[in-house]
Amino acid sequence: MATSHPDPTNSCHVAVIGAGAAGLVAARELRREGHSVVVLERGSQIGGVWAYTSEVEPDPLSLDPTRPVVHSSLYRSLRTNIPRECMGFTDFPFATRPHDGSRDPRRHPAHTEVLAYLRDFAKEFDIEEMVRFETEVVKAEQMAAEGEERGKWMVESRSSDGVANEIYDAVVVCNGHYTEPRHALITGIDSWPGKQIHSHNYRVPDQFKDQVVIVIGSSASGVDICRDIAQVAKEVHVSSRSTSPETYEKLPGYDNLWLHSTIEIAREDGSVVFENGKTVYADTIMHCTGYKYYFPFLDTKGEVTVDDNRVGPLYKHVFPPALAPSISFIGLPWQITPFPMFELQSKWVAAVLSGRVSLPSQDEMMEDTKAFYDKLEASGIPKRYTHLMPDDSQFEYDNWLADQCEYPRIEKWREQMFYIGFKRIYAQSATYRDNWDDDHLIVEAYDDFVKFMS
Ligand code: FAD
Repeated sequence: MATSHPDPTNSCHVAVIGAGAAGLVAARELRREGHSVVVLERGSQIGGVWAYTSEVEPDPLSLDPTRPVVHSSLYRSLRTNIPRECMGFTDFPFATRPHDGSRDPRRHPAHTEVLAYLRDFAKEFDIEEMVRFETEVVKAEQMAAEGEERGKWMVESRSSDGVANEIYDAVVVCNGHYTEPRHALITGIDSWPGKQIHSHNYRVPDQFKDQVVIVIGSSASGVDICRDIAQVAKEVHVSSRSTSPETYEKLPGYDNLWLHSTIEIAREDGSVVFENGKTVYADTIMHCTGYKYYFPFLDTKGEVTVDDNRVGPLYKHVFPPALAPSISFIGLPWQITPFPMFELQSKWVAAVLSGRVSLPSQDEMMEDTKAFYDKLEASGIPKRYTHLMPDDSQFEYDNWLADQCEYPRIEKWREQMFYIGFKRIYAQSATYRDNWDDDHLIVEAYDDFVKFMS
C-alpha cells in the first residue's frame, strides 16, 4: 500500500532514531519519497511509549544519570485520553475493526490497543524491515571533514554486535520526550522523611495501600493516577498550580480524594503544608510533573540546545536553521493529537530532503524562529512552553505543514473532536472516556475512513 513519489530529485541515506509512532511514520514517509532508511531502535520492539512494561527504574525519582533507563512511562490502567478516531494517522484510521476478542473496541481504548494499532501500521507498510532493534544511538555528529563526507552525519550506535559508526546524509530524531522526568521544587523537601516517586516509575497502585499520598500535578497523568491510587490509599491529596491559592475541595465520586493549591513547605516531622493553609502528614509524594526534552546522543556543536525545555533554535519545531535540512526533529509539540502531526512533519521532512519542497534561506528561517520566540516572550509565555500548542495553533500548524507538502488539510471533524474531547477531560475527569455527546463526529469520521479501509 505504498504510494511513492517518482523521480525524487535527491535520494538520501537517512537514519531515523527511534521506532515509536514518530519514527514509524517518518520511516514510511521517507521511503515513500525515495530515500533509503535505517531506523535505529534501542528497545526490542516497535511502539516506543506504547510498549508498556511493568519494569521501573531502580531510582524512583530517576535522578541518577547513570541509572538503567526504562523508556515507557505508561501505567497499567492507562486508556487513551484522545478519542481513537482523531488519534490515528490520517490514511490509516485507528478505527474499531472487526475483532476476535483480543482487541479493545472502546473509543478510549487501553494502551494495548494502541500498540496493536502501531503494529498493524508497521505490518501494512513493511516498516519493521527498516528497523534495527536493540541498537542504541550513542552519538550523532555532523562531519567536518573536507570532501565528499562534509556535512554528512556520523552516527555511532551500540548493539550486541558491538559499536558501529555509520555515515548518513541526514538524521531524523524521533526519540520521544516522556522518559526524562521533571520534578517539582519543594521548599524543605531535603529533610522531609517520606518517599518520593515520579509518575515515570508508576505502574500500579498496590504499593500505596492504606497510605496518605500527595500527587503533584493535575494534567493528564495526575488526573488518572490520583484516581488509580485513591482506590487503595487511605487519602490522596492532589496539589495543583492551576487552582487559586485557597483551593481545598473534595473531588466528586471519592471520599478520600482532595484537591489543593500548591505546596508551601515540607517539614522534617513528615508534614506537608499547602498554600491553602491545610497540613497533611503524608507517606509519599508522587511527582506527576512532566518530562524534559533530552538528546544525550546529539552533538551539534551548540547549534541546537535545550534551554528550560525549549529545543532551539528550530524552524517550525523541526529544522535547526544552521543545520537544515540534514537534521530534523519529529514530535516535539505537545498538548496535541500527536500521530497526525508526526505524519505531516514527516512528509515535510521527506519532501525537503528530496528537494521536492524548498526551505527558506537560513537567515529567513532564523528570523521566523526569532520572531516566534519574541512573540512568546511578549505574551509572557515562559520558554518551557515553546512547544506547547494551545487552542487553534495545533491545527493551524498541521495545515501549514499539509500545504507545504500539497497534502489534504486536517479534517474538520478531527479538529472539532479533539477540542470537544480536550474540554471533556477537565469537565468530567472521572467519566470522560465512557460518556460523550459527539456521536455526530464519529459518524463523520467513519464516513471518511471508508476510503482507507478495505
Ligand atoms: P516514543 O513513543 O517515546 O518513541 C521513542 C522511541 O525512541 C522509543 O522506542 C525509544 O526506545 C527510542 N529511543 C530513544 N532514545 C534512543 C536512542 N538513543 N537510540 C535508539 N532509540 C532510542 N498520545 C496520544 O495520541 N493519545 C494518548 O492517549 C496519549 N497518552 C499518553 C499517556 C502517557 C502517560 C504518555 C507518556 C504519553 C501519551 N501520549 C498520548 C503521547 C505519546 O507519547 C505519543 O502519542 C507518541 O506515542 C510519542 O511517540 P514518539 O515516537 O515521539 O516517542
